[in-house]
Amino acid sequence: MLEQKTEITLRGTSIIGGESRTGTGAAFHGIDPATGAPLEPAYHGASLEDLNLAANLAEEAFAIFGRLGGRERARFLRRVADGIEAIVPELVERANRETALPGARLMGESARTINQLRLFAQVVEEGSWVNARIDPAQPDRKPAPRSDIRSMLRPLGPVAVFGASNFPLAFSVAGGDTAAAFTAGCPVIVKGHHAHPGTSEMVGQVIAQSVKECGLPPGVFALLFGAGSEIGAALVDHPKVKAVGFTGSLAGGKALMQRAAARPEPIPCFMEMSSVNPVFVLPEALSTRAAQIATGLFGSFTLGVGQFCTKPGLVFLPRNAEADALVAELKTQVEKAGPSPMLTEGIAKSYRTAIDARQFSVETVAQTGEDGAGSTYAAPVLMEVAAKDLLREPELATEIFGPTSLMIRYESREELLRVARSLEGQLTATLHGSEADLAEFADLVAILEGKAGRLIVNGFPTGVEVCHAMVHGGPYPATSDSRATSVGTYSIYRFARPVCFQDFPQAALPEELKSGNPLGIWRLVDGQFTREAVLPPV
Ligand code: NAP
Repeated sequence: MLEQKTEITLRGTSIIGGESRTGTGAAFHGIDPATGAPLEPAYHGASLEDLNLAANLAEEAFAIFGRLGGRERARFLRRVADGIEAIVPELVERANRETALPGARLMGESARTINQLRLFAQVVEEGSWVNARIDPAQPDRKPAPRSDIRSMLRPLGPVAVFGASNFPLAFSVAGGDTAAAFTAGCPVIVKGHHAHPGTSEMVGQVIAQSVKECGLPPGVFALLFGAGSEIGAALVDHPKVKAVGFTGSLAGGKALMQRAAARPEPIPCFMEMSSVNPVFVLPEALSTRAAQIATGLFGSFTLGVGQFCTKPGLVFLPRNAEADALVAELKTQVEKAGPSPMLTEGIAKSYRTAIDARQFSVETVAQTGEDGAGSTYAAPVLMEVAAKDLLREPELATEIFGPTSLMIRYESREELLRVARSLEGQLTATLHGSEADLAEFADLVAILEGKAGRLIVNGFPTGVEVCHAMVHGGPYPATSDSRATSVGTYSIYRFARPVCFQDFPQAALPEELKSGNPLGIWRLVDGQFTREAVLPPV
């Protein structure tokens, strides 16, 4: 392991080519949401000149970083992980001041960020992720000979990453999108979220230091600040940027997607945007576990003040006494809860506006006052509506970012299936039920499989494991591309594309495709997975 040399002094600057650069854009500060106090230092938005420099350096770096061996790339990812690990106490303290997220949650998020980088390092070091395929030449094939055809995944080029407000570590500067892009071999230009600039700069300094210590070209990483849409929009427009990773609002994600599509050279976008994560409580589960499910639901929709993209925002319940008891239990828990600070004043304002707008169409079951709390504070709200009204007003099923959930009461199985069919794309869908319930509602499960990226049984959607099989994606508007995930090692594939090498001499092939298999990776040779060398034709 390289000696740890990271010293963190916040400078209030963007980071380009390993150097601090003070932008010429408007100044802004991180704000402590608990007190409303501005935090030092001031940050200045990056200029278009800064962006050009970052993009030119990223293009230069790509020529080297994109061809780096898996072991070297793994070493870099592990160096970033070690560097973050070395500053966890300072990082958590700053992130807590900028977001008001509790220390324990931020400790967990730091561990997730570090472990994610280490997991991705294992994948790139092992090497089989490149999906090497070899169909050896068949010179004697009749009626026509077959060429030697080999393919593997190659990185896309510089990637723009937009960090999320609600995950200042795991979905920010060294978060999932950055880790996936680096693993694939893409340089990254991060647009830092304006709500946690100090946290972003600390992590940015660690990455820049790691680039230097691993002897990589300085353009492998840049961090640009800017409050407002100018620098983010210019980043997506920049001709040297070849893909976008984004986590945030539907409005922001859509605006950036449209820009990417309108470029002279449109580029792939992976936007994770909006989901209400429906929960269905089936009959046997309702009869046997109503109180337990209510407690779990309350914990899940109020976790992190409801600021999770996986928050359960819709709960489907029949119109009967058992479901009334579940709602009554939820009401008791909501009435005991007080207000807590949200991430930003703007997010708290959007939450209150959305709740006020809904009150005309739904019944408010429970809402506690926010008297005396600051303008960033918000309290949980529980609402209810009949399924037939949701069918009439489908916009009631759109996401409200914050600690609220809407109970949907249905009269019949047919009505439940109809309303399930009417839902938009989701990151998750959850079923509470026994095996008999799941068998009886197999048609509901089939509908939900077409709607969501992850189906959960007898659990809650908040909390996303970072592993090989995870899918954190789903049809629009959950994401912009339902074929992808933004969590887990499968997310690496977003930033790579297949390239085919036909009739190449051995010496000119990438190591992954050479007949002798010098890297010992798994490959699909003539349709069979193997780690054996490819035999020369007899
Ligand atoms: P956001 O506003 O979409 O911002 C995410 C990132 O994209 C930020 O870096 C932002 O820049 C940038 N951005 C947004 N719109 C842009 C545009 N038109 N052009 C260029 N750059 C743009 O998401 P957020 O800050 O996480 O949340 C803000 C609102 O979104 C909240 O009111 C919340 O209710 C809603 N929301 C968020 C999520 C989530 O998972 N984060 C989910 C659902 C809803 P700046 O840093 O300059 O703002």
